Amino acid sequence: VGPEFLSKLGEVVGPQSLVTEPAGKWVYGYDNSRRHAEPAAVAFAASAEQVRRVAALCCQEGVSLVARGRGTGTTGGAVPIGGGVVLALERMNRILGTQADDRLMVVEPGVTNEEVQREAARHGFFWPPDPTSAAFCTIGGNLALNSAGPRAVKYGTVRENVLGLRAVTGAGEEIKTGVYTTKGVVGYDLTRLIVGSEGTLAVITEAVLKLTPLPEAKRTVRAIYSDVSAAARAVARIMARPVTPCALEFMDARAIDLVRLHGAADLPAHAGAMLMIEVDGPGACVDQAAGLVMEAATDEGLIEIAQARTQAQLDELWEARKALSPALRHVAPKKINEDVVVPVSRIPELMAGLEDLARRHAVTIVNFGHAGNGNIHVNLLVDPDDSAQMGRAERCLSDVFDLVLKLRGTLSGEHGVGIEKREFVQREIDPVTLALMGRIKAQFDPRGILNPGKLLPRQAAGAATASPDS
Ligand SMILES: Cc1cc2nc3c(=O)[nH]c(=O)nc-3n(C[C@H](O)[C@H](O)[C@H](O)COP(=O)(O)OP(=O)(O)OC[C@H]3O[C@@H](n4cnc5c(N)ncnc54)[C@H](O)[C@@H]3O)c2cc1C
Repeated sequence: VGPEFLSKLGEVVGPQSLVTEPAGKWVYGYDNSRRHAEPAAVAFAASAEQVRRVAALCCQEGVSLVARGRGTGTTGGAVPIGGGVVLALERMNRILGTQADDRLMVVEPGVTNEEVQREAARHGFFWPPDPTSAAFCTIGGNLALNSAGPRAVKYGTVRENVLGLRAVTGAGEEIKTGVYTTKGVVGYDLTRLIVGSEGTLAVITEAVLKLTPLPEAKRTVRAIYSDVSAAARAVARIMARPVTPCALEFMDARAIDLVRLHGAADLPAHAGAMLMIEVDGPGACVDQAAGLVMEAATDEGLIEIAQARTQAQLDELWEARKALSPALRHVAPKKINEDVVVPVSRIPELMAGLEDLARRHAVTIVNFGHAGNGNIHVNLLVDPDDSAQMGRAERCLSDVFDLVLKLRGTLSGEHGVGIEKREFVQREIDPVTLALMGRIKAQFDPRGILNPGKLLPRQAAGAATASPDS
C-alpha cells in the first residue's frame, strides 16, 4: 500500500476519517481473540456509497479489506492479518426506521445490539439475537457471525431474524438481498448466505431486522442435578415437549464453582450440574408453562428444582451466568474457548466424552452454554507458560473436535471460524462442497480482497480466487 493509494482512500472517506499513524491504527488491529496485526490504514465509513467506493478502490488495487464492527469477535475475524485496509463501520450507526405494523426495523451496520433492543422495546418488540456482548457489539458483527445467545433456543439465531440486506461485494458492487415481508421466495437466498460469512463475501451496509413482540411475562427455574448426565437427559426431555423454553442454559460442576464465587452461596455443595430454564408468554399462561417444564426437568439425578422467587434472585442467576466467560478468563487468561454444537439427544455422550478427554490429556475443562440448542462452550484452562500443558491442550482440542463431529455436531455455533478454526473446517466439510464454497467466494470477491485468511481453509480460498491470502 503506497502513498498514492492512501491519498485516493482519503479522497473517498475524507482526511478526517482516515487513520494512518501507528498508534491510531493499533487499536483497530485486534479483537477479543487477543490476536493483533497492523493494517496499512483504518478508514471510517459514513455511508453505503463510501463503502462501495472503498471496496471498488481496494479491488482495483488488489488491497485487502477487513470490515470491522467493534472488535468483540473471539476468533480473530476482524484482525487484518493480510494488512490492507480496516473499514470501521462504527460511524454508520443510525436506526433508519421502525415499522411496528410490519414488525421490522431498518438499521445501519454500526448500531449496537443494545441500541436496537432499546429502540425495539419502545415499540413493544425485541430483536431475538442476544449475545452477552450486546452493549458493545454491532449489528454488522452479529450478522457477519450469525451471533446469538440464550434466546436462540426458542426464537432462532440471526438467520431466522433478518429479512434483507444491502451489501457491497469485493468487486465494489452494491447488492440488495431479501424482502420486507415475512415470506418471499424470489431468487436465491443471498441474505442467509451473507449472514455468517464473516465479511468474506460482502460488507453489509444496511439490514432489515425482523422484530418479535415482547412477551408479557417470564418465569425462571433453577434445576440442580447430581451429575452432568442427569442434566443432559433432562435437556433432551424438555426439548421434546410442546413448551419450548426461551432459555435453557447449562453449567457443569466447575462452572457452578465459579457461580458460587460470584456470590450465589445457596448452591448445594454436591451440585454436579445446573440448568437455568426460562419460559415466556402471555401472563395467564406462564405458570402453567413453568410447571410443564419443571415436570420434564425431573430426573432421578435431580437434587433440587425451584422457580426464582424474587427479581433479585433472578438478576443474580443471570448475572452469574453472564459473568462466567470473563470469570474464566480471569482464572485462566489463555483459556481455549470453543462453542461446539451437537444434536440435543447426543449431549449426554458429548459430556461423557469430554470428561474422558479431560482425564486422558490431564487438562481441566469447564463446560457451560446453551444446552437447548446443544451449543456447549467447552473451555480448556491452560497456562501459557507451561509448554507441556499447552501441547496436551492442543491435542485435547483436536480430539474434542473429532468427538463433536462423530456425534454429528458442528465446530461452532456462534463464534464462527475466523482464523482460529480455519484449518479444522475440512474435518467438517468435504472437499467437493468446500470447492463449491470457494467458487461462490470468487463470484462475490473476484480478487479475494475481502477478509483474506479467514473462514475457508487455505486451499478452498486460494483455488478459486486470486487471493492476497496470507
Ligand atoms: C464478553 C463477550 C461476550 C460475548 N458473548 C457472545 C454471545 O453470547 N454470543 C455470541 O454469538 N457471541 C458473543 N461474543 C462474540 C462477539 O461479541 C460477537 O461475535 C459479535 O457479533 C461481534 O460483533 P462486533 O461488532 O464486535 O464484530 P467484530 O468483532 O468487529 O467483527 C466480527 C466479524 O464480522 C465481520 N464484520 C463486522 N461488521 C461487518 C459488516 N458490516 N459487514 C460484513 N462483515 C462484518 C468482521 O470482518 C469479522 O469477521 C462475545 C464477546 C465478548 C467479548
